[in-house]
Amino acid sequence: MTGAAPTCRGCGQPILDPQDAVLLGHEEANSGPGWDIWAHRAHADRVGPDPVALRILARVLLVKALRD
Ligand SMILES: [Zn+2]
Repeated sequence: MTGAAPTCRGCGQPILDPQDAVLLGHEEANSGPGWDIWAHRAHADRVGPDPVALRILARVLLVKALRD
């Protein structure tokens, strides 16, 4: 974690205390490297599962289902 404070995905506020930051995952961008998803410890469970991971899992399950 460098530079500006990351923004909490759960409440939308900056996470000023690095000890309070939880890295939830990484979000891909259409161009560029994407960004990490952070949340306050107290808000980490407010945030849903990583949408990119869910999309990939859904595709894998779909292909498997169609193949059988
Ligand atoms: Zn928060």
